[in-house]
Amino acid sequence: MNRRKRLLKYSVYLAAGVTFGIWLAAPNGGLKMLGDTFGPSMALAQETPEVSPVKARERDTYYPNSEDLKPDEMRVIACGTGMPTTRAAQAAACFLVELGNGDKFLFDIGSGSAERISSLQIPYNYLDKVFIGHLHTDHFGALHDLFIGGALMGRNVPLRVWGPSGAVPELGTAYALDRMQEMLSWDLAGRAGNIDFRGYVMDVTEFDYKLENEPIYEENGVVIRTFPAIHSIDGSVSYALEWNDLKFVFSSDTYPNKWFVEYAKDADLVIHECFIAVPELVSKMKFTPESALQVGTQVHTAPEAFGKVMSEIKPRMAVAYHFFNDFDTVTGVYERIRSTYDGPLSLSEDFMVWNVTKDDIRVRMAATEERTWSPPLAAPAEPPNVDDKTAMAEKLGVETLDFSDFVAGGVWDVEDVLRPIYEQASEALGQDFPYPEKSEPK
Ligand SMILES: [Zn+2]
Ligand SMILES: [Zn+2]
Repeated sequence: MNRRKRLLKYSVYLAAGVTFGIWLAAPNGGLKMLGDTFGPSMALAQETPEVSPVKARERDTYYPNSEDLKPDEMRVIACGTGMPTTRAAQAAACFLVELGNGDKFLFDIGSGSAERISSLQIPYNYLDKVFIGHLHTDHFGALHDLFIGGALMGRNVPLRVWGPSGAVPELGTAYALDRMQEMLSWDLAGRAGNIDFRGYVMDVTEFDYKLENEPIYEENGVVIRTFPAIHSIDGSVSYALEWNDLKFVFSSDTYPNKWFVEYAKDADLVIHECFIAVPELVSKMKFTPESALQVGTQVHTAPEAFGKVMSEIKPRMAVAYHFFNDFDTVTGVYERIRSTYDGPLSLSEDFMVWNVTKDDIRVRMAATEERTWSPPLAAPAEPPNVDDKTAMAEKLGVETLDFSDFVAGGVWDVEDVLRPIYEQASEALGQDFPYPEKSEPK
């Protein structure tokens, strides 16, 4: 490169740098956030790369299913970062962890997060492990959506769920999820015998909420430990996942506590709840000052306290979640965190993506599809089996799940247009698909 060209490039670069500096200096939280997350100092140290304006090049956005993980890489995707009242921009708590060995894990599955998960187009057999931190709906309210919808979209293995006990059995995960399955009796009974039913099985593991950094999952080189959280009532926990010398820690909900400070120390990616600042709880959420102070500082972790926790544990990347991340609330959260913490920070929103290796943590947003269908199947589906319907009837203690004479008697005859569909399928596939016999109303 000749001197003039180099000078020109440098000036352009300098202008960009100055602009970026103005952004950072401007009292605009959103741009400040971006600068922090993507590391302005790193950017300033880089050479301006020469790119062709017409050739394909690496993008700054994560497009699901376009990048294979390296064998030693971890990818974490926020599928929910908001509050109990879900909104179009943010579902409630849910983080997906994907590992280079092919394993995938969901940590919390709050209301609204199933749609986010579907946008990633991951075969549902791989989304069969869920770890619940506590039983607030903003942390497990989409479990039944993943359970039923995931099976319908191709999961043909049981859904495995881990969660803590409570002070009494009635406050534990097993109690809640047994009753969730009872709640779904009508749903399940109506599906048995109509579709591949193998995925409609939930395998629940409840563990003692008082375990202190004890492993509850050890498979395929992955160890997941649990330790107590302080939130709402007894029976909330946090999780740490260790694999390949990388450590991911997820608080679920908690007030700052000694276990988190000890067991998250020096981890690579640490996700901890961080609540909306008290003034915004009053102005935006219409809390009374008394409630705002209580909920914003005592029940949850205030941004200043989040910062203090992160200053102590010094993660390679601190991730704050559990607040509505808007241009006019994020500044308050950010400045309060920065009053107690000056390390690497992501103020998360839905579809933020972290690629974690020993050398680097890359933070981007995902660009996802909205009109998703079933992702590829990880294992072939089986035709429906009428025995599933019989078994379901037995389980429910009813003689039959067939329609009553009353409802069957309401059928309006469209057989003349449905029969040809069976005939067409039989002809096209060279296999006999007999038209179902309808019993005559008695
Ligand atoms: Zn909670
Ligand atoms: Zn919560």
